[in-house]
Amino acid sequence: MPGASAIEDALARSRLAAAVPPNVREVCARLTAAGYQAVAVGGAVRDAILGRDPGDWDVATAAEPDAVMALFPRTIPTGLQHGTVTIVTGRGAHSHVEVTTFRGEGAYTDARRPDHVRFGVPLVEDLARRDFRVNAMAYDPARDEVIDPYDGRRDLDERMLRAVGPTGDVYEDAVARFTEDGLRVMRAVRFAAALEFALDPETERGIPPALPSLAKVSRERVAEELRKLLAARTPSLGLRIAHRSGIIQTIAPALHAGITDVEHWLARVDGSPAGTNVRLGAMFAELAPKAAVRRLDHKLAKAVDAQLKALKFSNEEAQLAAALVAIHGCTREPSWTPAEARRVLSDVTRARVPAAIAFVRAEGRGDLAELMTRVENDPIAIGELAVAGKDLMDGLQMAPGPLIGRILAALLNQAFEDPAINTRDELLTRARTLELELAR
Ligand code: ATP
Ligand code: MG
Repeated sequence: MPGASAIEDALARSRLAAAVPPNVREVCARLTAAGYQAVAVGGAVRDAILGRDPGDWDVATAAEPDAVMALFPRTIPTGLQHGTVTIVTGRGAHSHVEVTTFRGEGAYTDARRPDHVRFGVPLVEDLARRDFRVNAMAYDPARDEVIDPYDGRRDLDERMLRAVGPTGDVYEDAVARFTEDGLRVMRAVRFAAALEFALDPETERGIPPALPSLAKVSRERVAEELRKLLAARTPSLGLRIAHRSGIIQTIAPALHAGITDVEHWLARVDGSPAGTNVRLGAMFAELAPKAAVRRLDHKLAKAVDAQLKALKFSNEEAQLAAALVAIHGCTREPSWTPAEARRVLSDVTRARVPAAIAFVRAEGRGDLAELMTRVENDPIAIGELAVAGKDLMDGLQMAPGPLIGRILAALLNQAFEDPAINTRDELLTRARTLELELAR
């Protein structure tokens, strides 16, 4: 164990011994008893040493997939061509253990998947083809031994992400790892934010040459990394690097072009509440024009929605973020009437009101957030009026038709100005007048 003192090593081992779940331990034990080396590996080892919740454990083994399947009664052939078998050890969460055969990889000509994997390689070679040294450690539960040929423990101590690789020259390894699989640059900035680790400068220097690889990665996988990054306590720890290294420009060129003041952009994202969708809105708020507006800018919202959908965010994520970006323009208005606040909330739609208020507060417009909170229980949608279309038809003997919808819209508009009118009697009285006016 190079670099780790005896005390640190003992601490790491005791944390690992306590953290390895019994089913993972048993899977390793059975493989080991059959003569195959089997170890816990990757992110869970890293997290257990750091004292973080390890989430899912991954096992790596010398056994090839058919040998693994022969040893366990319940298995799922998850990804045989990549050497991955899932072992079902019981029911419920964490009952599935992924076991992957030690592998070395051939060239990645498409920057997404290796052309072929080679089995029959030793663990050190398997570890060398991972992404970062902190993710290239293994733990052998039977022998209570940390296997750390690339000095990941030193990086954990330094809270530093360095590319792993066979050459030992960090820049060279970084370019090779990042170019092979373009997702790894996203993982770099995501881990920087989530673990609150620095990215080693030589490793960062390996990002720009790998951006063409990033451009080939599926947008779904990129979005997933961005989600994890935005869920971190301080997303700017990753976003700052993503911006200066060209990642943002590659994955969201319009956003990159819209960022004029990087520090301001980063502070806004950090300052926004940690619900990912709200952060996503904060991240894209730079796209809002600088002019103040009093109503939600639907054209802007549509444009942002389209960009986020292109990045494969879900409809819900894209729509909420788009609405928040559009609201951002409204927060530049110095003063608001209650009716204006209700109209904006109406455009935002009921389900998104809490996120909108949180966003506006984080934008530094506490006064506006207070006003929105005061009016948020007023009617902001036709469905929240004290009368429905059926009431108009029954009460006013109206025939079904588009006039009903127009009357309801007009009533909602009146309720924005004075929510006290939202009673059945008052609305029916007003509907009668509206019927005569609108029918003309
Ligand atoms: P998290 O689970 O928090 O997303 P993780 O590091 O555990 O982080 P996983 O996707 O669970 O990530 O992968 C487990 C391990 O597999 C990693 O720690 C790393 O060793 C390896 N790995 C995963 N994805 C890649 C990749 N794209 N390139 C290289 N190695 C990877
Ligand atoms: Mg993991």
